[in-house]
Amino acid sequence: MAVAEEFLTPYNPPSWACHLKDAPSQKVSLANLPTPIHRWYLPGLPEGVEVYIKRDDMTGCALTGNKVRKLEFLLAAAIQENSKHVVTCGGVQSNHCRATAVAAAQLGLKCHLMLKSDIQDAKDLSSVGNTLLDQLSGANIYNVPKKSLLNSDLIPRMDALAESIRKRTGEKCYKIPTGGSDNVGVWGYINAFSELQGQGVAERFDDIAFACGSGGTAEGLALGNYLTKSSLGIHGLVVSAYKQYYKEHLENVLLNFGMEGEVKLADIFDTVEGPIGLGYGLSTDEELEFIMEVSQKTGIFLDPVYTGKAVLGLVKELKSNPSRFHGNRILYIHTGGVFGMFDGRLEDKVKNDVLSQNNIHLWPSGSDQCPL
Ligand SMILES: *Cc1c(COP(=O)(O)O)cnc(C)c1O
Repeated sequence: MAVAEEFLTPYNPPSWACHLKDAPSQKVSLANLPTPIHRWYLPGLPEGVEVYIKRDDMTGCALTGNKVRKLEFLLAAAIQENSKHVVTCGGVQSNHCRATAVAAAQLGLKCHLMLKSDIQDAKDLSSVGNTLLDQLSGANIYNVPKKSLLNSDLIPRMDALAESIRKRTGEKCYKIPTGGSDNVGVWGYINAFSELQGQGVAERFDDIAFACGSGGTAEGLALGNYLTKSSLGIHGLVVSAYKQYYKEHLENVLLNFGMEGEVKLADIFDTVEGPIGLGYGLSTDEELEFIMEVSQKTGIFLDPVYTGKAVLGLVKELKSNPSRFHGNRILYIHTGGVFGMFDGRLEDKVKNDVLSQNNIHLWPSGSDQCPL
């Protein structure tokens, strides 16, 4: 079993962020950094717009996506306070829960996941996509009702679980909110902004866009942009909440950083609400078609829950509302979510579409006729 303490390394916050209250002094290295940036010839872009992609879907393999950056700080905090367990919560196919389970296994921490779904029996828990990896990583899973809310349902249950672990084992359990978006997790994307500076992003681009869920990615990037006095447009393509949520969440983050009232949501980031479509986790045929088109034409894979909706929304917004952007040079941050492609919903789509494109050929043994 890994000795978690051995993974801690010293961390120096960037000079523009070291005044923030409770700035971290240690992290664990979980992600392959810096992630690369390259040109992305997305279909459907208006004339003159250039999109580049930052590959945060390449922070790792099973341990991949934007949550890995947050976990570098969250799990360091857990280890520093001598917790042997971590608990977090999310949807049944949560990328954040999967990343926490994989990282905990790597670091030798015991992982507890509260997954929201309405199954009646443990054997009905899905074991495809992220939940397969949760289970392969040895996470303890607690199924909670799908409609559970963070503050009124999930936090009290996480408290009760941590207390029960303490009573049974005498060991501490570190609690991480949905998506890892608290004041510790936000450092993942404050640190990422510093990486972006090193890649010359403030000079090379006018705008940054990315899929926005629990808000930590947006807040880290927006605070980096604000504190460095860069003038990039920061656009969160919203897939799971509404403006009021981000407003309140940001106010709380600012309060905890000792920046209460210093800035407002609209001053530092733009919430683009169109991409949410039918609602969190619900796909339209247009979205699934778009995911297929992008992978066929560019070799970049988008997932149905986050990045597929976000990129479709970005292309639409660039067309219909160009004045929302500061310029024509856009950096899209690919936040990962690859295992969401394997949750089942793309299978039927692919079966029908690939068949109708006549891309599958039968070539029986003994046949001397080339099918093409
Ligand atoms: C969690 C997640 C997001 C949203 O990030 P937040 O920091 O929660 O806003 C975007 N894309 C993917 C693939 C994710 O898993």
